[in-house]
Amino acid sequence: MAEDGTIISTMRVAEDLLDYLPENPLQEPLKNAWLYMNENYSKFIIATIGSYIIHELAYFLICLPGFICQFIPAMQKYKIQPNKPETAANQWKCLKLIIFSHVCIDFPFIGGAYFYIEYFGISMTWDDMPAWYQMLPRMYACLIIEDTWHYFVHRALHDRRVYKYIHKIHHSFQAPFGMTAEYAHPAETMILGMGFMWAILLTCSHISVLWMWLIFRLVETIEVHSGYDVPYLNPLHLLPFYAGPRFHDFHHMNFNGNYSSTFTWWDKIFGTDRQWNDFNKTKATKEWEVIDPLKEKSQ
Ligand SMILES: [Zn+2]
Ligand SMILES: [Zn+2]
Repeated sequence: MAEDGTIISTMRVAEDLLDYLPENPLQEPLKNAWLYMNENYSKFIIATIGSYIIHELAYFLICLPGFICQFIPAMQKYKIQPNKPETAANQWKCLKLIIFSHVCIDFPFIGGAYFYIEYFGISMTWDDMPAWYQMLPRMYACLIIEDTWHYFVHRALHDRRVYKYIHKIHHSFQAPFGMTAEYAHPAETMILGMGFMWAILLTCSHISVLWMWLIFRLVETIEVHSGYDVPYLNPLHLLPFYAGPRFHDFHHMNFNGNYSSTFTWWDKIFGTDRQWNDFNKTKATKEWEVIDPLKEKSQ
């Protein structure tokens, strides 16, 4: 009881201290926009069309800086695989499948958010919206949950008995670029997308948490597929054990190992980062031998 009291009083002191922080200048316009949305649109429209619009805007806006990098010579020193530049043909091929996937798979999948919100009584009101300091620990928890699901399911998708049927499509690009983050077989979109859902089921009390998690997840996955490693750009790099773009880029280059999405610990625990560590030790001295799982009989 005394311990609970101590924790609660510490939290109250922390909340009092937060009152001394300067007020967020965007607070008022954001509040007005949120109230306008609630007054003018139904719960159904907000949960389905609203969530879909946020996904589309976030996806293409987050892809944009990486897309522009290919036209800026000064950025080429940050390209992880400089010998494999993005081509117009590859980007067009990717965009076509992304549009198909966003319309035919993501739209119904995201539309399911309405039933989830109704069933669990998820709030949409301004007053119930968690503060940023309550939101950030939830985002961290979401990243850990999704990463754990992603590691084991992604690793299973690399089993050579199923690889060629599903996950091979995501590996069409040995040097990924931002848009390839969601370039995948519909089954993979659904199966790996469940990691996103488990995270939200355990942390969500308000639709803003769902939308914030959507944006966090897109920032993470588009960055690790961007093909560029630009220092100080993404605050997620401040997280201990954050994998980053070089880690996942190696997965695309090598086809094996580095199965996690966000953190490096599962690969460390199960030794599936061995080839990544060998690569880092030897890349300065010799060419890395890439083994395509479909060509390698002994795998
Ligand atoms: Zn893979
Ligand atoms: Zn990938």
